Amino acid sequence: MKQTIAFLAVAIGLLPYSSACRAAESDNGPVKKALLIGIDGCRFDAVRAADAPNIDRLIDEGALAQPIRIFPARYRGADTISGPGWSNILCGVWADKHGVLDNKFAAPNYEEYPHFFRRLKQARPAAFTASFSDWDAIAQKILRDADVELDASGKDQAYEVGDQQIADAASKLLGEGDPTATMVYFGQVDETGHQDGFHPSVASYVAAIERVDAHIGQLLDAIQSRASRNEEDWLILVTTDHGGSGTGHGGGHDNPEVACSWLVVSGDSAQRGRISGEHGQVDAVPTIFAHLGVEADPAWKLDGTAVGLKQ
Ligand SMILES: [Zn+2]
Repeated sequence: MKQTIAFLAVAIGLLPYSSACRAAESDNGPVKKALLIGIDGCRFDAVRAADAPNIDRLIDEGALAQPIRIFPARYRGADTISGPGWSNILCGVWADKHGVLDNKFAAPNYEEYPHFFRRLKQARPAAFTASFSDWDAIAQKILRDADVELDASGKDQAYEVGDQQIADAASKLLGEGDPTATMVYFGQVDETGHQDGFHPSVASYVAAIERVDAHIGQLLDAIQSRASRNEEDWLILVTTDHGGSGTGHGGGHDNPEVACSWLVVSGDSAQRGRISGEHGQVDAVPTIFAHLGVEADPAWKLDGTAVGLKQ
């Protein structure tokens, strides 16, 4: 695990500068912020079976797209696992573009199709980005070069332990720092699914979702505690990379228990209710960009469209 205290101190140390930017921006309305919460391997029917008041509240105070696609009709060459899934979500393009077909990351095309933090910084160099995860591929391969980064993965460490470290560090930054876009990833639901089964009838799987839901509550409380909260407009997305069936999820293109995800778009600027139509994991990035006022350059060749935002 990387040491992050120094990174967090740097983030919080930037407050005066960021506050100056905020004063300039608030002439045009509230300051837009985005938080993307990723729960690995989380079936939506198990979320519904769980006692998950924080996810429920985000759905009630936002819009829900479910199910959404985890691969496009045009291309089935990537496996139904985390490398392609999180690359779809965080780069905003499908695997025939980003090139991640499995968890080996043999030939990623992230130079041409980078993660959305890099695009955000291109469009707005003063934007501040933060990434918290306990799957090392997120920190080391997919979401590189965030301004603040916690890689809480550890060889002998259970994801439950890493998830707690993530919730603590992320809520500190969300409460006291000034990030423009933050990604928070939790790994224990997928780990539990591989151990005991991905299914709403599996008590330990549902319990893992409930622990992550409590972490999400910690993040939401931190946002609400911000001194500047009343001058801000927070968009909060929650999603997953794939489902699961039995104790696995590879090769699940034709199994709806595996091959679908869901997307919650919540917060001040979110619509309320079900999002109709066909949507996919690649819609998360355009939605964040639309909220932050970043105009996507056609040269980026993003595959998705913004969903769930008030007009
Ligand atoms: Zn998995």
